[in-house]
Amino acid sequence: MNIKEIDGKYVANTYSRFPVVLTKGKGSLIYDENGKEYIDLGSGIAVNSFGVSDEEWKNAVIAQLDALPHISNLYFTEPCARLAQMLCERTGMKKVFFGNSGAEANECAIKAARRWSFLKKGKGHSTIITLKNSFHGRTVTTLAATGQDSFHTEFGPFTEGFVYAEPDDLESVKRLADENACCAIMLELVQGEGGIHVLSRDFVDGVVALAEEKDLLVIVDEVQTGNGRTGALYAYMSYGFTPDIVSTAKGLAGGLPLGACLLGEKAENALAAGTHGSTFGGNPVCCAGAISVLSRIDEELLAAVNEKSAYIKSRLEGAKGVKSVSGLGLMLGIECERPKGDIIADCMENGVLVLSAKTKVRLLPALTIPMEQLERAMDILVAALAK
Ligand SMILES: *Cc1c(COP(=O)(O)O)cnc(C)c1O
Repeated sequence: MNIKEIDGKYVANTYSRFPVVLTKGKGSLIYDENGKEYIDLGSGIAVNSFGVSDEEWKNAVIAQLDALPHISNLYFTEPCARLAQMLCERTGMKKVFFGNSGAEANECAIKAARRWSFLKKGKGHSTIITLKNSFHGRTVTTLAATGQDSFHTEFGPFTEGFVYAEPDDLESVKRLADENACCAIMLELVQGEGGIHVLSRDFVDGVVALAEEKDLLVIVDEVQTGNGRTGALYAYMSYGFTPDIVSTAKGLAGGLPLGACLLGEKAENALAAGTHGSTFGGNPVCCAGAISVLSRIDEELLAAVNEKSAYIKSRLEGAKGVKSVSGLGLMLGIECERPKGDIIADCMENGVLVLSAKTKVRLLPALTIPMEQLERAMDILVAALAK
């Protein structure tokens, strides 16, 4: 049996994979088992922040593999402590809990918000308002938090205490905040899996003011938008407010599994010893990778992300076969005239990897994709869109 056949026989049927077996890569160039080269505009779904096997990242990871790959959270380790410090210093948050994924970062955010309200207001203020069209993860609780009916059909009973407001409709958030005993409002500033929908500044300002008025926490899910992806270190920074809780994962460790839940001033003591934990969370190798990534996401790199974003938009806006372009930084969605699947297949045929989100083609290239490769990939994508 070849790899596709073995996978089809033994790996659970949860993915409809593209018909290629990828074997290696360097930066934004990926190779399949036949040696065919692809320019990668997906970076492992916003994970490979600096592309595949970035030298500096690799050296940091290898050094930590040599020193101490795992030891458990029963002991102090330097990478975990230093990464938490770095995250707090760069965000103004006060404390960090490390897990292994976006879903776990959100689980922690949900637990922290509920325990915060329990300590402050007593039992019963546990409802969290999330937005329709959101995506918060695949665990039973983060599926419940996800504001899409299609995720709520087959895995019940779900965790109670989530209600769903319309994105960009402040009145619907207000109504839910009045009707329910709430502890928090949770949102993605750019809805990623929901089709790269950028929330309006007015709406977000309104949500932040409402939360202040009602003494609710604002939780921002930056699992996809975080770590430089939208052209700011975290997307909330370009919206001009400070959330109470920030969850992040995907690009944080540049290709290793790491999630983080950042607790701001209000929520910093929401978790106490024994209330939460994770065996692998804060693993030294993953944290060493994250330190290497985060320490290089500076003003210069973010400016380059925004320049590349402007370049991509300039190639797409008004181009043949393009209905609209949405997104921030290097998190972009294209509403196309042709079916997205045909465009993805044509791109792959011609050596470019792109993703989809809902009806759109989605682009999430490495933050450091070289201009020459981006130009070549855009030539191929623009031709596929126009076909
Ligand atoms: C991907 C994603 C998640 C889930 O992350 P996992 O690491 O797959 O658990 C949660 N929220 C958002 C916004 C995401 O994009």
